[in-house]
Amino acid sequence: MSIIAAKHPSNLTKYIRLAAGLFVILIAVSSADAQTLNVRISVISTAPARLRIDAHLPEATKTLSFRNAYAGVLGLGERIESVSGIRDNGSIVSIRNAAPGEFQAAEPFSHFTYEVNLPEPTRQAQMSHVSSLNPERGVLMLADLLPQSTQVSTSFSSAQVNLDVPVGWTIASNLKGTGSQYSTDDPEISVFLIGPTLHEKHQQLAATDLTVVTSGKWPFSDNDVSKIAGRILSEYSRITQFTLKRNAVLMVIPYAGDVGPQSWAAETRGNVVVLLLGRKASRKKVLAQLGIVLSHELFHLWVPNSLKLAGDYDWFFEGFTLYRALRTDLRLGLISFDDYLDTIARVYDSYRSAPEHDQLSLLDASERRWTTSSSLVYDKGMLVAFLFDLSLRKVTNCQDSLDDVYAELFRLPATGQSNANETIIGILNRQGELKTLTRDYVENAAPVDLEPIISAYGIQLQAAAGSTGSKLILDRSAGSSQKKLLACLR
Ligand SMILES: [Zn+2]
Repeated sequence: MSIIAAKHPSNLTKYIRLAAGLFVILIAVSSADAQTLNVRISVISTAPARLRIDAHLPEATKTLSFRNAYAGVLGLGERIESVSGIRDNGSIVSIRNAAPGEFQAAEPFSHFTYEVNLPEPTRQAQMSHVSSLNPERGVLMLADLLPQSTQVSTSFSSAQVNLDVPVGWTIASNLKGTGSQYSTDDPEISVFLIGPTLHEKHQQLAATDLTVVTSGKWPFSDNDVSKIAGRILSEYSRITQFTLKRNAVLMVIPYAGDVGPQSWAAETRGNVVVLLLGRKASRKKVLAQLGIVLSHELFHLWVPNSLKLAGDYDWFFEGFTLYRALRTDLRLGLISFDDYLDTIARVYDSYRSAPEHDQLSLLDASERRWTTSSSLVYDKGMLVAFLFDLSLRKVTNCQDSLDDVYAELFRLPATGQSNANETIIGILNRQGELKTLTRDYVENAAPVDLEPIISAYGIQLQAAAGSTGSKLILDRSAGSSQKKLLACLR
């Protein structure tokens, strides 16, 4: 089973309300031979921030390997300290630190202890991606706290976790559990939020159980968050016609410092969204930004996290998701139609400013996401989704839209794992007249040309001039067929 976590750094001003991100594919071990790691995680100090972990592996090993890098955060393995193996008689097996996060012993052991030094990440935006702890709260992610289970010698596919937190603190998690005891068959996506001021609210939506956990004081109420998250989840259930298999958990954490909601960072990991958001603004402003961020993040619960697709298809699950979230913003009244057009124009300028914008297909850009082409995956992906949506509406007289692509995608048999790019291009190409879009932009490096399709809607591209960016403006002399198409886009 592969799990994909979609992650986002904050403050990408070009989207204003939208965000780019990073992603990785985490390979979980087969569950055929379920092996359980038993672990006790204790907060021993919040300043300095330290955890003590006592673990029993299902089988003895001579090596332990911890994650060292994730989502651009490096040196994670250096936080793992004082690793000792423990023999049955209680004597110590000495373990050598071979490299950051890599530990080796001369003899096998299955019981071991270690400490994790958890200073604040150097950048706040990293806090949605890796574990952190301070006197106000902790975000504990098993993916970077436990040894990786991919090596045969330390193979485990599930974990039983006991969590000891400071007096007066409570625990929230996307794991099933009671009190301080939790279990998971998916350690890679397991997250705990701990702290003295957690609020937890459950809401049963039509088909989804939503848990909202907030930490700290906010200008909005828990109800406000549940309400907007609920509206967005309902919208995506409707579009995909797919019911999430697990409950959804949303953790909302203050972005440190005296900052407003324009500062934020998020990662959607399995069934949990970890969101850091600046809170220094009015209730209305913070909620407005929360809605915009969630319309993107919550869609990741479906795409890619509920799809059994393999391969580099970031152009679709990030680029197309940016666009689909923009449609949600419009539909739920979070933005106006002018905002919708302005966002497309801004992304178009950002896309055109990328030096490689006419040199990479979306398939190539997705493969090179970690090196040079990360913005192209978002910008070009979003623009191609826009072109595809408008083209599909046009050729079907507004009967179909990009929404139908998602419904089709989720109608595919859920057995096995298929090639993402083949599958998605196959669905996009079902409307024969649109094959040129996937050929030119997804498979080849043709530069994005908005004008032919937007003109059918009576929309004109006003080129950027001086410090003013491009604008998409409505043609006042548009004919009735253009007006009719435009009406179905609004
Ligand atoms: Zn994303």
